Amino acid sequence: MIDHRRLGRELELFVSDPLAGAGLPIWLPAGAAARHAVEEYVRELERRAGYRHVYSPPLGKRELFELSGHLGYFADDMFPPMRLSADDEFVLRPALCPHHALVFRARGRSYRELPLRVAELGGMYRAERSGVLGGLSRVRAISLNDAHNFCALEQVGDEVREILRLIGEAHAVLGVRPAGFRLSLRGPDQRYVGDDASWARAEEMLRAALDGVDVVEVPGEAAFYGPKIDIQIVDAAGRESTISTVQLDFDKPERFDLSYTGSDGRRKRPVMVHRSLVGSMERLFAYLIEVHEGAFPAWYAPVQLLLLPVDAAQADAAAGLARRAEAAGLRVEVDQAGSLGARIRDASRRRVPYTGVLGAREAAGGSLSLRLRDGRVLDPMPAAQALGLIGAVVASRSAGLLPPA
Ligand SMILES: [Zn+2]
Repeated sequence: MIDHRRLGRELELFVSDPLAGAGLPIWLPAGAAARHAVEEYVRELERRAGYRHVYSPPLGKRELFELSGHLGYFADDMFPPMRLSADDEFVLRPALCPHHALVFRARGRSYRELPLRVAELGGMYRAERSGVLGGLSRVRAISLNDAHNFCALEQVGDEVREILRLIGEAHAVLGVRPAGFRLSLRGPDQRYVGDDASWARAEEMLRAALDGVDVVEVPGEAAFYGPKIDIQIVDAAGRESTISTVQLDFDKPERFDLSYTGSDGRRKRPVMVHRSLVGSMERLFAYLIEVHEGAFPAWYAPVQLLLLPVDAAQADAAAGLARRAEAAGLRVEVDQAGSLGARIRDASRRRVPYTGVLGAREAAGGSLSLRLRDGRVLDPMPAAQALGLIGAVVASRSAGLLPPA
């Protein structure tokens, strides 16, 4: 693996400018294109799995975060509140849960709506010390792939099993290779919210959902509000961090007085499950850049097809083909500056999955010969067929460069 900060510079994926502030990187067009493709995939995966997406603002009134408990327990990790007037203070949120609790509370809820899955790819902020910041792996402005699943206690097992299935699917498609699973449970002498019976049942359901998975149990590591599952990755420097998480919460439903009407007509308290399939876009990309060494699968490569006209006579043909590729939904560029050899080397340095060389014969015959990033060169084929081949690989979101058989 290669350090993502080095590749981020070389491939122009993101920049950390001291004038913008430490831990506040800027995504450049290439990095933004890759991230956009990944965000689109994650939203599509969630939509198919019954999630409802919302938008909520990255800051809110001080009272919201007092009610949620963040200002009580978490203030050291937050930016200080901003005062607009004597009785109007705002907080940059350190988590999305408070807003999502208000989504649940926006109207009365019935047991028929549960599990209610509220998802958002939203911004939040952590006042990380400047010493720990680096590239995309530790940042102060975080774009989290987040969701809160409100369910009845008896639904928790099935819900967690389904979340773990989604995490496995997302990891396989993106190329994430988990280094281990951790199940954080109650310790003997800590204080926790929620009653013993609910905790015991919740821990049992998490354990059952992890049946068949190689998992390390860590008693005493649970949050005070509930047990959790963390899925770990290891970066190029050998550091371990969490990429995906499933956390049960008995506390926020109490604090926000969340309830639904049960099948018996009585008011009941839901359990809130905080879950992230792939964590923050920042940490995810720090990892993906390293694990793929910048050579992303074609479906989220910043540029998927680079067209190289051999000389100026093929420039029009290349421009026409680029327009067709764009209309087919591909990310394409034409490179006509410098010698052909230098341009082929540059395509390889940029890890572009497909390079199409257009000589006089190809331009006249409407054909294209594709060079793949791994060095293979395909026989010349009609340009439409070449675009179809790339389109099929991209649509299948496969890891290989040829369509799945
Ligand atoms: Zn949350």
